Amino acid sequence: MTHLSIVIPLYNESSLIEELVRRVEENAKKVTDNYEILLIDDGSIDLTWEKINLEIKKRVKIKGIKFSRNFGHHYAITAGLHHAKGEWVVVMDGDLQDRPEVIPDLYKQALEGFEVVFVSRRNRPEKITYRIAQKLFYFVLRKLSGINFNSEQANFSIIHRKVVEAFNIFPENARFYGSTVLWLGFKRSQIYADHGKRFSGSSSYSLAKRLRLASDIIISFSENPIKIAIRFGILMSLISLMITMMIIYQSIFSGYTVSGWASIMSAIFFSTGVILIVIGIVGIYVGQIFKQVKNRPLYVISEKNNLD
Ligand code: UDP
Ligand code: MG
Repeated sequence: MTHLSIVIPLYNESSLIEELVRRVEENAKKVTDNYEILLIDDGSIDLTWEKINLEIKKRVKIKGIKFSRNFGHHYAITAGLHHAKGEWVVVMDGDLQDRPEVIPDLYKQALEGFEVVFVSRRNRPEKITYRIAQKLFYFVLRKLSGINFNSEQANFSIIHRKVVEAFNIFPENARFYGSTVLWLGFKRSQIYADHGKRFSGSSSYSLAKRLRLASDIIISFSENPIKIAIRFGILMSLISLMITMMIIYQSIFSGYTVSGWASIMSAIFFSTGVILIVIGIVGIYVGQIFKQVKNRPLYVISEKNNLD
């Protein structure tokens, strides 16, 4: 049985594949000679797939999967986990921000008796504004999802076969590697390591893409937003009840009836707004259910290389 699999999602990373494979190979060898490297091309539009094929020609322990289009980072990781044969599986980003030199340390920590070990990023090369926004985002995420996310941990990790098997029977359409593994449990640990700079190219995540990912994680892991919406709705109806009572009181005791047009109009608009928000939130959940019920495949593979 393969001892170590390394799963790497790649999207338009042609410029760094050679360097990536060289460094991953060098460090995988420190763990075992019985390893495989799975490179998943998430529908790149540059020469990523050609570069992967070139590496496979040079080295035997590399396997390639090409998606028919861009499905997303977490779907690429999922495909990698579906195909990985190793007793231990390392998941890492392919832009060399997750430094391959850390792989032996991850493995060593796992051998201390853990089934899941994540890397916590010690120093971060990102801008301070980005870091503050990220801290804030994780705070909201923790509150809304009820899951104890760690903002210093992303996908760089090693997991045991048992965890891989548990992950692979997850039928959910909305999927995120880190949060799903967190949900699964198992004996967990972390190590600290420096986070590298991007080797080349730029992040493929736009702000919009990150926000979408965030709301997807919240929606798929929690009903809290619906509960908050309902509480808000109850609060609004209580307030309007109080206002109605006040108006009745005033009209009885001071004959005060006609004025107040403006406040009524604003109350109508405000409560309509609240209703629309609540319907919107419910709609998002219904949308997720719709997606899941359609039961489409998570990803479509157009080509494989060195995999049966
Ligand atoms: N990635 C992917 N599909 C995508 C976007 C990104 O497979 O749609 C890969 C990308 O090639 C990289 C990793 O996921 O290996 C992390 O992406 P990126 O560096 O752009 O994200 P960031 O580090 O900025 O969060
Ligand atoms: Mg990156």
